[in-house]
Amino acid sequence: MKSSESKAVLWDECGEEMYRFVAELYPICRSITGEGIRDTLRGIQQHIPLTITEVPSGTQVFDWTVPLEWNIRDAYVADGRGVRVIDFKQSNLHVVSYSTPIEARMPLRELKAHLFTLPDRPDWIPYRTSYYKASWGFCLSHHQYLDLRDEDYDVVIDSSLKEGHLTFGEYYIPGETTDEVLISCHACHPSLCNDNLSGIAVATFLAKSLQARSRRYSYRFLFLPVTIGAITWLALNQSRVSNIKHGFVLTGVGDEGAFTYKKSRGGQADIDAAFAHVLRHSGESFTVTDFIPYGYDERQYGSPGFNLPVGCFMRRANGAYPEYHTSADNLGFVKPASLSRSLLVTQSVIEVLEANRNYINTVPYCEAQLGKRGLYRSIGGNVTGRSAEMAFLWVLNLSDGAHTLLQIAERSGLPFSTIQRAAEELEGQGLLRRAA
Ligand code: ZN
Repeated sequence: MKSSESKAVLWDECGEEMYRFVAELYPICRSITGEGIRDTLRGIQQHIPLTITEVPSGTQVFDWTVPLEWNIRDAYVADGRGVRVIDFKQSNLHVVSYSTPIEARMPLRELKAHLFTLPDRPDWIPYRTSYYKASWGFCLSHHQYLDLRDEDYDVVIDSSLKEGHLTFGEYYIPGETTDEVLISCHACHPSLCNDNLSGIAVATFLAKSLQARSRRYSYRFLFLPVTIGAITWLALNQSRVSNIKHGFVLTGVGDEGAFTYKKSRGGQADIDAAFAHVLRHSGESFTVTDFIPYGYDERQYGSPGFNLPVGCFMRRANGAYPEYHTSADNLGFVKPASLSRSLLVTQSVIEVLEANRNYINTVPYCEAQLGKRGLYRSIGGNVTGRSAEMAFLWVLNLSDGAHTLLQIAERSGLPFSTIQRAAEELEGQGLLRRAA
């Protein structure tokens, strides 16, 4: 087998493994607190050594308060014959997340005020939450809704909302420096594959792959309930966030849509340039969008008090696909190959961050004579040879201490890996030294 073929097989296997992980976590009824997110974090612990933190309900975190812990055992709506016409056991999306407990009999008219459907997508169940307003409700397909007869129904939600904890998971992988790369994803959605589980799977496998490599940076992976989790983590770690030099939120990376990278708040960070560069040279379809204060937790990391260089890597953005926040974001919607290609992009971005440096040309007066050093060997050769030579010339010319390798790659139009190899060879020949 050729090495390119064996590499492709490895990537296929990696995609299948991530997909199996998504499938394993899919049935769990997650929410922003409770046993579902704990079970999920324990599932991640089967792959990487997560530290789990429990923060008590009522803890003040900036302008927010850690809510009561929500757990659910069962929920249903049963008709006059006792048949469950809406059943949490069939899909955990049937119950509005954070629904208060109820046990009552009521006519359809009264029940209807608590039912949510998608008339435009009559087969799908919507995903609804009510974290910060006490209420209850059921979500169902519009077909199911239309089948409800005008009679009295038994309504049961066997849930609890009590003093408890908010739970999040963290994995810190130390590097040569305490400068950190932050990778954050939410782990609080119930049975939704792309929005939630794809990010968890890719982050977990990215963390695994980083364990094995040499690391200039330290890496921090966060698995959190969306919004309140990131706010809580930032409140508990306010004094440490200055270590974060680069970061990205990872979500929605399992579907077959084109890539989207949403820039950090400042829009000029190295992470923004690294994603744009890697995507441009990936051969994949992509868009790079500006920061907006809506979406995922990039808006917490990018709030004015923190203003961290944290972007968001997705395929199609939240809300940009009809399956978003519905039962159609299921195991059929995410693909092993999409997961593995998303992982590859994140790994390539890390390669760029790790190797991106400023160098100084040690023979800055006119051009160094490459021929006598054996660096000009491929004149008249193939395109790869010519781009290697161009890489030497670009790196030498722009290594004045003021340009990073990534900036040189961008300016030259060459892939970062070509520029990096050239810099390594020139450094080996004593023609470059690392800027302080
Ligand atoms: Zn979501």
